[in-house]
Amino acid sequence: MPYNALSGIGEFGLIDKIAGIAESTLYNVPNLVRGIGDDCAVFQPAEGLLQVATTDMLVDQVHFDLLTTPLKLLGSKSISVNVSDICAMNALPRYALISIAVPPSFSVEMIEELYEGMSYAAKEYGVAIAGGDTSSSRSGLVISVSMIGEVAGEQITYRNGAKKGELICVSGSLGGAAAGLRLLMREKEIMLEHIENNEPYNKNVMADLKEYSDAIQHQLLPLARLDIVRLLHAKEVRPSAMIDISDGLSQDLQHICRGSNTGALIHESRIPIHPGTRRIADELQNDALTLALSGGEDYQLLFTISKEDYEAIADDREISVIGEITGSEEGVLLSDIYGMTIDLTSMTGFDHFSS
Ligand code: ADP
Ligand code: MG
Repeated sequence: MPYNALSGIGEFGLIDKIAGIAESTLYNVPNLVRGIGDDCAVFQPAEGLLQVATTDMLVDQVHFDLLTTPLKLLGSKSISVNVSDICAMNALPRYALISIAVPPSFSVEMIEELYEGMSYAAKEYGVAIAGGDTSSSRSGLVISVSMIGEVAGEQITYRNGAKKGELICVSGSLGGAAAGLRLLMREKEIMLEHIENNEPYNKNVMADLKEYSDAIQHQLLPLARLDIVRLLHAKEVRPSAMIDISDGLSQDLQHICRGSNTGALIHESRIPIHPGTRRIADELQNDALTLALSGGEDYQLLFTISKEDYEAIADDREISVIGEITGSEEGVLLSDIYGMTIDLTSMTGFDHFSS
């Protein structure tokens, strides 16, 4: 068999190949409205009702580091990242199936901690933990959560409905999760250096993280924007396209544009950069805008909406208009504070297989 490295095609190239092989199976199920390619798969169990389903895996050393991640928060995050994909369809989460592969070093109490966090988050979102699977692991901890949600047929929102002239909106703020992660990595390095040098524990050497707690919280305890979905339902407006920002604004906006066959123009001055991020970025010699555009893991909602429908949510301070959908020939662009235009397609987000 020929050998082609995964880094050659990247994560999305690989998903495209998988989608090609799996495509013929879709015809087995006429009620399947959407397969691979959106935040959730969509199934129609009855007239007027849609069921949405998603799954996300968290792997030790890839998605988290137990040295900097309390298990309770990890449990909560594993629920939130799935709720976030359900929200991206404008749907409400209902129940979850959770599989774990547990390394021998784990104790009963550690798994209890993890599930305390999962249960806490599940209660906040109104989700039931309804099943799962348990295995041992020869390497690190693996958590795989699948979640089912529901939405009325007329409320479903895909990635591919954006139209030229519509507004591009984002909830909350961006960049905080990436800034928080970089801080935690720095603290880990300092800690490991101390251990390596056999130095006695000295808490004055560690930075006081209190002043950064908000960014760290965005990384360790992200919250899915179910409140925004509830707002949209209450105001009876439906975005034309929506995605949750897991890979970074730049890449996730490109997913909407590619799906909808449009371009986009967003403005740097309107991007709601998380308040603590600029200072953290300066300190770590990072760029706050880059963290907001391609840092990822913010789990905010990015959506497009007609100008008329936007009026109904214009008063909500959690929603920022950052630009407008354009024609596909215009590309996906950012106009910076100096008025220069930057091609966002040249900017990459997180890819599991990039070298
Ligand atoms: P998200 O970041 O919203 O969770 P992903 O980028 O992980 O979405 O996945 C994009 C699409 O590809 C989704 O529809 C997802 O269900 C599908 N997908 C990802 N990995 C696989 C896989 N291994 N097999 C089948 N479908 C997959
Ligand atoms: Mg998603």
